[in-house]
Amino acid sequence: MITAYIGLGANLGDPLASLRQAAQALSATPGITALRLSRFYRSAPIDSSGPDYVNAVAEIHTSLTATALLAALQHIEQDHGRLRPYRNAPRTLDLDLLLYGNQAIDTPGLTVPHPRMHERAFVLRPLHELAPALQLRQGTLPVLLQACSDQILSVIPAQD
Ligand code: ATP
Ligand code: CA
Ligand code: CA
Repeated sequence: MITAYIGLGANLGDPLASLRQAAQALSATPGITALRLSRFYRSAPIDSSGPDYVNAVAEIHTSLTATALLAALQHIEQDHGRLRPYRNAPRTLDLDLLLYGNQAIDTPGLTVPHPRMHERAFVLRPLHELAPALQLRQGTLPVLLQACSDQILSVIPAQD
C-alpha cells in the first residue's frame, strides 16, 4: 500500500458539492482505502480566471499504480463534466496527483511530485493540515508556506 496525496479544486458550478462528491468517488474507487480529507479552503484564482476556487487535499492509501491512479482521477473529473477548452480555464473539478509515496515519476503524461505544488498555498496549507511533518524536495511545508504567504486563503467553516 502506498500513501498518496490528491489535490482537489473547483471554481465552477457548486465547487463545495463537487469536492465532497469527488472525495466520495475517491473512497469508492477499488484499490483506494483510508481517505482522510483536509478542510475546504477558498482562494482567488491564480494564473486563471472566473469565480473563487475551493480547494482541499485528500490522503489515501492505494494499491493502484500511479498511472492507474491518475486514470481514476481523470475518470472522476470526466464524471463531473470537466472540459479543457484552454490552459488554466475555470473548471468544475480538478484532481491532481500531488505525491505518490516518496516516488519521483517523470513521464509525458505524469510528473510526481506535482511540479507546481510547492509554490501553491492552496495545496500546501491543506497538505500541512494532514501531514505537518512532510518534506518536499524544495523544503518543509512551513518554510514553503512562508514563501507564498501573499496568497490569501480562507478556511470554509464546516457545515452540518
Ligand atoms: P496544473 O498541473 O498546473 O495544476 P491543471 O491541473 O489545470 O494545471 P490539467 O489540464 O488538469 O492541468 O492537466 C494537464 C495534464 O497534466 C493532464 O493531461 C495530465 O496528463 C498531466 N499531469 C502530469 N502530471 C500530473 C499530476 N501529477 N497530476 C495530474 N495531472 C498530471
Ligand atoms: Ca491543477
Ligand atoms: Ca489537473
